[in-house]
Amino acid sequence: MAIRNIIQIGDETLRKKSFPVTDFGEKTRALIDDMKETLKKAEGAGLAAPQVGVLRRIFIVDVEDGYYECVNPVITEMKGKQVGEEACLSVRGRQGVVERPMKITVTAQDRFGKPFKVKVSGFTARAFCHEYDHLDGILYVDKAKSLEETRD
Ligand code: ZN
Repeated sequence: MAIRNIIQIGDETLRKKSFPVTDFGEKTRALIDDMKETLKKAEGAGLAAPQVGVLRRIFIVDVEDGYYECVNPVITEMKGKQVGEEACLSVRGRQGVVERPMKITVTAQDRFGKPFKVKVSGFTARAFCHEYDHLDGILYVDKAKSLEETRD
């Protein structure tokens, strides 16, 4: 496993649409392992493959609820709404208020290509939506109602 560089806002890669994963071989699994290690070191809630410069539809989320790996995710259902603070490992020194659905249902594949379905809510749903947006080149700052500077 290796720590990968997290690219920052301004880099064009973050604005591109990621491609579906079709190869569930060793390379994809190594990428996910690297993402996991990179996220842990950065102490973030989630990380999407384009943030490490790989335009593939993969994200991971590590929150109180648990650790999730989603390959080729699709949000199939959204319910309610929540308004709260968000930050991003690719947008250092800022945080903002973003509206997200309260509950979502996601279908995805695991790192071996096996399909699964998961329902998440609250902060976990927020993290999923944030990471999902990365796969379409969308950053939370595009959706934020307000933004402020932070110290880190
Ligand atoms: Zn982000």
